[in-house]
Amino acid sequence: MSELRFNELRGEQVVYAIDRQDRTFLPAREHCPLDPTRPGGPPTEIPLPAFQIAVFDNRFPAFEAPGGAAEVVVYTDRHDGSFATLSAERAEALMWVWRHRYLELGARPDVDYVMIFENRGVEVGVTLHHPHGQIYGYPFLPPVPALELAADERLGGCAPCALLARELDAGERVLIERDSVVAYVPHAARWAYEAHVVMREHRASLLDCRPQELLELSQVLQALVRGYDALFDRPFPYVMVVHQAPTSAQARRGHVHVEFYPPLRTAEKLKFLAGSEQGAGTFISDTLPEQSAVALREAIARAA
Ligand SMILES: [Zn+2]
Ligand SMILES: [Zn+2]
Ligand SMILES: [Zn+2]
Repeated sequence: MSELRFNELRGEQVVYAIDRQDRTFLPAREHCPLDPTRPGGPPTEIPLPAFQIAVFDNRFPAFEAPGGAAEVVVYTDRHDGSFATLSAERAEALMWVWRHRYLELGARPDVDYVMIFENRGVEVGVTLHHPHGQIYGYPFLPPVPALELAADERLGGCAPCALLARELDAGERVLIERDSVVAYVPHAARWAYEAHVVMREHRASLLDCRPQELLELSQVLQALVRGYDALFDRPFPYVMVVHQAPTSAQARRGHVHVEFYPPLRTAEKLKFLAGSEQGAGTFISDTLPEQSAVALREAIARAA
């Protein structure tokens, strides 16, 4: 079991999940635990000879019932590739899987916040290359979603709605504009190629989205990550996070959006969180979001 400790000086929870030290670290191709179990082959995490999308409890959980949840979402039974190279149908189906997991985990009394995410690339600590994401069900409201709720208060209404309106008005940082989904580099992005993908209508969670909106969300997410891969003509590492309304009884407001935090600032250079970022919480960037948006728009067009 993991242990929660409250860091008084920071006012935040820290999770100690010490079993995770033993988790599988970049296994050889033939020992991938996220592959299907082939007839006569070694058993993997998924006891089926083939599958489309598989969801199961993380064997090395940061959270587990009755103190939250940690799940693995395997996007495909094919080892090679990425979210970008999934078929359009599979990417759309993944949105429905996310929706379903939000519904099920969010209904649990021990889950206050459901966060769907993907870490891609060894640069962000990936230990398995097989295309997959994760879901954490936090038994508390974590600081970043809490900050977003505070932004609602500050802006006097839904913050993602207000910020989307500003971005559409300015236009220069918009990357992709569809009927129901918009992608942009935020005005005050922390990462050089940070991007946010936002539902145009106010939708608290994926449960409130219409089927057409989920379809467009999958299309815009794929167009963006393909653009990322085209940007420096190399697999582009990122952390992708889906923010939705908390599922605790107290605060069920929010606005679905997906945030990408890519660590690269050039084809070779990584952004490290150092003195100012760690000690002061203030990001210092050497690129402007407007310039990144121009480069990303071109890359998205190249990859389309
Ligand atoms: Zn695999
Ligand atoms: Zn909104
Ligand atoms: Zn967010």
